[in-house]
Amino acid sequence: MRTQVAIVGAGPSGLLLGALLHKAGIDHVIVEQRSPDYVLGRIRAGVLEQVAVDLLDEAGVGARLHAEGLPHDGFDLCFDGRRHRIDLHALTGKRVVVYGQTEVTRDLMDHRAAVGRTTVYDADNVAVGGFDTARPFVTFRQGGVEQRLEADFIAGCDGFHGVCRASVPGSAIQTFEKVYPFGWLGVLADVPPVSHELIYGNSDRGFMLASMRSKTRSRYYVQCRLDEKVEAWSDDAFWDELKRRLPAADAERLVTGPSIEKSIAPLRSFVTEPMRFGRLFLAGDAAHIVPPTGAKGLNLAASDVALLARGFIEHYAGSNEGIDRYSERALSRVWKAERFSWWFTSLMHQFPETGGFGAKMQLAELDYLCGSVAAQTVMAENYVGLPIPG
Ligand SMILES: Cc1cc2nc3c(=O)[nH]c(=O)nc-3n(C[C@H](O)[C@H](O)[C@H](O)COP(=O)(O)OP(=O)(O)OC[C@H]3O[C@@H](n4cnc5c(N)ncnc54)[C@H](O)[C@@H]3O)c2cc1C
Repeated sequence: MRTQVAIVGAGPSGLLLGALLHKAGIDHVIVEQRSPDYVLGRIRAGVLEQVAVDLLDEAGVGARLHAEGLPHDGFDLCFDGRRHRIDLHALTGKRVVVYGQTEVTRDLMDHRAAVGRTTVYDADNVAVGGFDTARPFVTFRQGGVEQRLEADFIAGCDGFHGVCRASVPGSAIQTFEKVYPFGWLGVLADVPPVSHELIYGNSDRGFMLASMRSKTRSRYYVQCRLDEKVEAWSDDAFWDELKRRLPAADAERLVTGPSIEKSIAPLRSFVTEPMRFGRLFLAGDAAHIVPPTGAKGLNLAASDVALLARGFIEHYAGSNEGIDRYSERALSRVWKAERFSWWFTSLMHQFPETGGFGAKMQLAELDYLCGSVAAQTVMAENYVGLPIPG
């Protein structure tokens, strides 16, 4: 097989890149190691920045998002018995939209099927090579038959554990990492959300987030230890712990029910530099991870592939500036989102090693934030998403 762009991974990065390349008439094939059902079954992010919404519109897949997504103009911060609303719209003129990553993925998959573009699912032994030459290729096995896909470029959209980043020689790549000493225990349940906007809580029992995927489906998280096992958490134990961390009025109002998903996710900040290696380009979680506190993971994946699609489109129109500057442009936005996610994580969680002094610093910063429009504006403009570098 031969194509212009071989995309490895059919998560949000790979599928959105595919949709943007399709619109530009650029031939491409996506190779995914899992089945469509497996890809659709992963419960992950749910808050979209305006930048991501605009890109989904540009790709022609925004209709259901606009019909069913929940626009949010703000969120609440709770700490020390206090509650403060960050009015995103008043501070920035922008809002975010709550719409599950699963739904974004479904819309992109449906669009791809409708326009007849190729996605190879259930590909085994996926490998990439030749990206330091003019003839890069992807090999895989499908239905027991070895396949070779030759391309002008490879887009590594295969997530944190993918094969693309792992195929780059160690001497060509630098990584930067911070692992946090806790995780998030998350529950998804078909119960109405306790509040129509997100509530981020810093409590002395640890962080909590009251979020949602729709008006009837809630997503709640509590900070937990890294050595905890999800099986040890019954639904009742989870709801009890969440109530202890919610403001009292919300705890009283909370509607509980059986979980439809329950998992523990470790928190990590991770960046790869550069994001281009010859004819191989990394995008999304293949290149970077953020702790979920700032809701940036999916949004960064979208902005990476916007820059990458622009680079490929310019290349086929005769200019290499976009692909030559891809890494630098993408990383300038990635590092700012890393900073914001790290800062918000540091502000809201209990860090065992920083003790009473660390907790007092958090409260002083939260108190300052609530009293300063300037500080809230900084927070809001990062939360709604910074512009994609020109
Ligand atoms: C448990 C969890 C919870 C999260 N919660 C949030 C959240 O609340 N808010 C937020 O903003 N972000 C969250 N994120 C992050 C967000 O989901 C990711 O940033 C987003 O999925 C990135 O999309 P991606 O396409 O780059 O990577 P992925 O979604 O990981 O997709 C990569 C794709 O590549 C495929 N693949 C992997 N290896 C290979 C291979 N060798 N060959 C072929 N295909 C391969 C995978 O099967 C997958 O389909 C969460 C992530 C996780 C893991």
